[in-house]
Amino acid sequence: MSQDKCVRCGSCLQLCPMFDATGEEQFSPRGKMYLLQVMDQIENDEELGREFRRLLFQCTLCGRCEENCASGVDLLKVWHEQRAKAIETAPEEFEYLEPLKDALSNVKNIYGLAAEDRAIYWLDELEEEIPGLEDRVYEKGKTAEVMVFLGCLMSFRGSQIDVLRSLFKTLERLEVDYLVMGAEEFCCGHPLYLMGDEKGAQKLREHNKQVVEEAKVRNVITCCPGCLIQLREHHNLENVEALHHTQFFDRKLDTIPEYPQTEEFSYHDPCELHRILEIKTEPRSVINKMGIEFREMDLSCCGGGGLLRMTDPNLSDKIIQLRAAREGVKNTTVITACPSCREQLLSQDLKTKDVVELVSDALEGGAK
Ligand code: SF4
Ligand code: SF4
Repeated sequence: MSQDKCVRCGSCLQLCPMFDATGEEQFSPRGKMYLLQVMDQIENDEELGREFRRLLFQCTLCGRCEENCASGVDLLKVWHEQRAKAIETAPEEFEYLEPLKDALSNVKNIYGLAAEDRAIYWLDELEEEIPGLEDRVYEKGKTAEVMVFLGCLMSFRGSQIDVLRSLFKTLERLEVDYLVMGAEEFCCGHPLYLMGDEKGAQKLREHNKQVVEEAKVRNVITCCPGCLIQLREHHNLENVEALHHTQFFDRKLDTIPEYPQTEEFSYHDPCELHRILEIKTEPRSVINKMGIEFREMDLSCCGGGGLLRMTDPNLSDKIIQLRAAREGVKNTTVITACPSCREQLLSQDLKTKDVVELVSDALEGGAK
């Protein structure tokens, strides 16, 4: 078993945002590995089992532990497998996740809102500014080269509207033949995947796969790294390449007009984008093409992943607060490329821009 390879060296300790926020060993990867090893030896210790199951969901699944483990422990695989086992063996301890599961099963989005509302709020906001946007919403029978998969956060949250505006404006300016999945989009399945509910996630994926393939697109693009993990790694799309929007624009734009920079920028690399999808070059390449000067932030976590916002919002807040203080980004604008990281940054009143907002501004000849 993978956990047997852990030699308790402690290299993962200081890098773990949970250990950083709590200072307590049991929250660290080494602490959890130790508990798991002990549990493998002492069966049926109820108290230990309960403690371990709680700690499993106090983790952002950022992957820093796995990236830095010299013994090659597949920590993310262990966390995923153990989460699935925890929910299966002790469902009563995870009743707080039931409303989310029900919403995903009934209306196919994390907010429990009507499925048709996926293409309502942003269309109302943007249709005057972007003529013809309504015609871009997918309906059965329509085809295009590119399908935009917004994901639940970007479909429903008002805080994402500036990113959507920039995304659509940029696609229009580049004369991309695109559709937005809209009401036909189901959640990508990532929240269920993070709980280890593979069957539930698969049901959602099957619908999305069918819609994307029926639209005969060459690419499906998304701004959300979590959605991209699902689309690229788990949807089994045939003849369709799933791309992060930064990859798509990096390929599309050999050059970009210079960005009229008047502020200090830092770049926050989303964990899932950097560590899980290994998309590191393209966001930076796009930023560099605009001549933007920016500071690299430490490759750490915003605290928003792994369902931590649901399972322990206080710890999630603490992680982003510590990160912001340590990096001294109060007076800078944090560039990122993930709607979930954006939410975390905005929750602390930090200024943030998605890479596509910068691209849109540069193409339009000035920052807004
Ligand atoms: S770095 Fe790897 S081997 Fe070392 S304590 Fe962490 S999980 Fe165990
Ligand atoms: S995935 Fe991230 S938060 Fe979870 S144990 Fe590993 S380093 Fe800590």
